[in-house]
Amino acid sequence: MVQSTTPTLTLKDYKSEVKPTWCPGCGDFGVLNATLRSMAALKLPVDQTVVVSGIGCSSRFPHFIRTFGFHSVHGRALPVAQGLKMARPDLTVIAVGGDGDFFSIGVGHLVHAALRNIDITAIVMDNETYGLTKGQTSPTSPHGHKTKSSPYGLLASQFNPVATALSLNVSFVARGYSARPKELAALIEQATLHRGFSFVHVLSPCPTFYNTFDAWDAAVTPLPEDHDPSSRLKALEYALDSEKQYIGLFYREERPTMERVTREVVEPREFRIDEYIQRYA
Ligand code: SF4
Repeated sequence: MVQSTTPTLTLKDYKSEVKPTWCPGCGDFGVLNATLRSMAALKLPVDQTVVVSGIGCSSRFPHFIRTFGFHSVHGRALPVAQGLKMARPDLTVIAVGGDGDFFSIGVGHLVHAALRNIDITAIVMDNETYGLTKGQTSPTSPHGHKTKSSPYGLLASQFNPVATALSLNVSFVARGYSARPKELAALIEQATLHRGFSFVHVLSPCPTFYNTFDAWDAAVTPLPEDHDPSSRLKALEYALDSEKQYIGLFYREERPTMERVTREVVEPREFRIDEYIQRYA
């Protein structure tokens, strides 16, 4: 992560001229606010930061931020972000998207991002529905959820993003709530500073097609102050709680990142990625 030498950057400096087109009350506003706050707190240089997205309501994110952006294709925010970081490890790379994008068509990429531990941050806005296409079930919709596409109720089980990330041994796992942007901003800040793949799951309701604000207001609970984020087993216990939606830092582990290992171990013996890119770009 590159930090700016300019001490005057504020939240406003990270806002683009494009106004968000989300429905009034959409949780994604809170996530955008939290992300801008975290960028301002870290003084990230706008020309050294890239926000990559897939497809969906939340994937419009890069348009609203004055860093570089890449609005890619459905489910592919993670491979684009990882490729970018491997080629340009000097950049701060943030991948964003929703539950449909990350946990349906794109879920396979989560497995490989966990294994590679490339230093990117993923912020996943989960509203338990496909908002952009008008409210069909997504992998995180609860079992039995009735929609136009599931008139008899969803027959599949509900996907648990935090438990999945923990079981894959993602090196930084956190959860926030869009209605608590200050706490969320602090989590995104920690995730950006973490060296390795960081996964921030965000409860971000869709009031237009599946309003979960009341349910999540009641269920959201900060992780206990004495939670030890080096304990993956304890983190998993909190992630599997069926009543509460714990927020905070579940798990963190420092281990080598793939872009560092590639440059320090492989390149001196085999080839230099920088030269390869120069030659063929
Ligand atoms: Fe947000 Fe739902 Fe509207 Fe999409 S449809 S912008 S997720 S409120």
